[in-house]
Amino acid sequence: MNQKADLHTHTICSDGALDTKALVDKIHAAGISIFSVTDHDTVEAVPAAMEAAKALGMECIPGIEMSTKLGNIDVHLLGYFFNHTSPAMKEYTENSKSQRIRRAERMIGKLNALNLTITMDDVMKQAKGPVIGRPHIAAAMIANKCVVTFSEAFQKYIGNGGPAYEPLNYLTFSEAVELLHSLGGIAVIAHPAVLSEEILLQAINGGADGIETIHPSSNAAQTETFRSIASEYFLLETGGSDFHGGARNDLANLGKYWIPVERVEKIRTSLNLQINE
Ligand code: AMP
Ligand code: ZN
Ligand code: FE
Ligand code: FE
Repeated sequence: MNQKADLHTHTICSDGALDTKALVDKIHAAGISIFSVTDHDTVEAVPAAMEAAKALGMECIPGIEMSTKLGNIDVHLLGYFFNHTSPAMKEYTENSKSQRIRRAERMIGKLNALNLTITMDDVMKQAKGPVIGRPHIAAAMIANKCVVTFSEAFQKYIGNGGPAYEPLNYLTFSEAVELLHSLGGIAVIAHPAVLSEEILLQAINGGADGIETIHPSSNAAQTETFRSIASEYFLLETGGSDFHGGARNDLANLGKYWIPVERVEKIRTSLNLQINE
């Protein structure tokens, strides 16, 4: 049987529902041998995930899901195999952390101006880790009865371009790629199904090394398209469940969206080739 790798998961350090140990236990129970924790703009869970993986005979690859910008479009960029303890990564994650707090404050201001009763304290209560994101704002809106569901919060208020939306001052896509490369890692376009064809091509031209061909947001036909794009542009292929811990009805995705471990070995080979060039 194919050994499974899942290179896209989240913990409470960003907007997942499980702490690192609980996540790794679930990944193990799902029969996965290699995985990566790819929290939004933080690597805080990585050391504990590596340790927990080792204890269970699994391998954990350092990962991150960076929020980047291509023109006006938000593009998520997955990084793997980079030096996660480097000062440059620390600077990036610290910067993101404080920016995200300031951005949440701006969004709360907009929600208050729309007559919704919600404070920064309410939002901070929803976050168990360092990264404050829109899912925490949505959760606080539900707790305060401003909205009934997550999707209502995004559709009416905080979704991209919504009346209470505020952008982050992200790194550009190419800057983020460069950062990952400078730290010995690879840069992968996350969940390409959410991108237009034009933006996807710009991301490929922006220096991406890979594309996430397997993801819950891609149907079978899209996965085939992305696999042929990978082959056409000599891109590495990654994939995973984007598991956020079960709170978003995503429990069934773990163990369902995965890549064969051979594709991880292919990434490793490509990195070794670069070092020896
Ligand atoms: P942020 O990084 O703070 O901009 O938040 C982005 C996160 O919000 C994404 O990773 C999704 O988990 C979530 N999200 C974005 N748009 C929606 C939506 N329309 N409905 C539900 N969740 C969303
Ligand atoms: Zn997330
Ligand atoms: Fe994402
Ligand atoms: Fe994700």
